Amino acid sequence: MLRYVLALFLPFTVYCSPFTLVVSAQSSPQDPALARVRKLLRTTPLIDGHNDLPWRIRAEVKPPRDVAAYDLRQTTSGHTDFPRLAQGQVGAQFWSVYVPGEIKDSGFARVQLEQIDIARQVIARYPERFALALSAADIEREFKQGRIASLIGMEGGHVLENSLGALRMYYDLGARYLTLTHNVTTDWADAALDSARHAGLTPFGREVVREMNRLGMLVDLSHVSPATMSAALDVSEAPVIFSHSAARALVDHPRNVPDSILQRLPANGGIVMVTFVPAFVSQAAAEVDLRRMANTKQVQQTVADTAERRRALEAWDAANPEPRATLAQVADHIEHVQRVAGVDHVGIGSDFDGIERVPVGLEDVSHFPDLFAELARRGWSDEDLRKLAGRNLLRVLHGAEAVASRLQRERPPSTKSIDELDRAAH
Ligand SMILES: [Zn+2]
Repeated sequence: MLRYVLALFLPFTVYCSPFTLVVSAQSSPQDPALARVRKLLRTTPLIDGHNDLPWRIRAEVKPPRDVAAYDLRQTTSGHTDFPRLAQGQVGAQFWSVYVPGEIKDSGFARVQLEQIDIARQVIARYPERFALALSAADIEREFKQGRIASLIGMEGGHVLENSLGALRMYYDLGARYLTLTHNVTTDWADAALDSARHAGLTPFGREVVREMNRLGMLVDLSHVSPATMSAALDVSEAPVIFSHSAARALVDHPRNVPDSILQRLPANGGIVMVTFVPAFVSQAAAEVDLRRMANTKQVQQTVADTAERRRALEAWDAANPEPRATLAQVADHIEHVQRVAGVDHVGIGSDFDGIERVPVGLEDVSHFPDLFAELARRGWSDEDLRKLAGRNLLRVLHGAEAVASRLQRERPPSTKSIDELDRAAH
């Protein structure tokens, strides 16, 4: 999820025009690059790191939170449904269970439980198409069975409410990654888009990472500050992921990953799953996005009337349209991560259904093969395309599971509290 205001969904464009196949060279069925990648995606799972369908269902106006009414067998108003998942050859999906961190009294754990409930209802509702996946072996087995292996990824460490017991229970409910922050700095970790209060992670923040390693929950560094990325890499014994980020060297947006961090991935074994968020993959879009954030902050501080505030924000958006990003720019970020970190350290993390705007050529989940075809035309080998699609993520998950089984033999669940660890540090 890009940010909380996206919950106020603007109308989505419908992208399933019958003319799409005719007008887009990338979608031509005769394209040999596309034929090649379609073939290899039949035998290697394409694993997407981030899709916000559960929040989209929660925020759907008519009716909200209704898993049955948001029928994935039909064309939906969002980016995701079964016809388009099939066209996109999606083999496994991390469904994001995002919880906004901006509203302090919403009951983060309550909303987290509700989002996990929605995700699990979605998965259970279509047993012929989806299967809950809790391990790398589950992904491999379900892909062979022709079902989309469905993993649950949590977005925002605030949902722990500073409790390692809550972390363990989320694991038991199926959560297999946690971004240490969303856009708000927590009591123990600094966010990329908020003020830095902890020089990365506090002692309790480091204990969270250790306990995630012991459980086998992936440490997700999308949304955190570079200091937090660095501190987590210092502590983590397991490979980390970035479930939806791009390269800072290409687009100077605080949500992106600097080269100094990319260079540390080979030693850690982790991956950056490159996202399609226009403001992270296009410098021109990033500049508008950063100015929009500054304006929003200023309006929130100076305009008390909420109706007036909304009018001011809408007027700003109308006067400052965001330039479109492109599929080629997403491919550029993938190639940058591949050059700096290596081809073993890159994956795909779309953020579909968490974004209002989409790159040209990557309008919804049906378009993943077009991105692989672009890389095939740029000279990527089948072997490297398979790593990008899913093999790297499977290696990371297998690695995290091996670390967890070792750590579970070495130590019991942590009994530490934030009071104990962080008060001692001050
Ligand atoms: Zn996000």
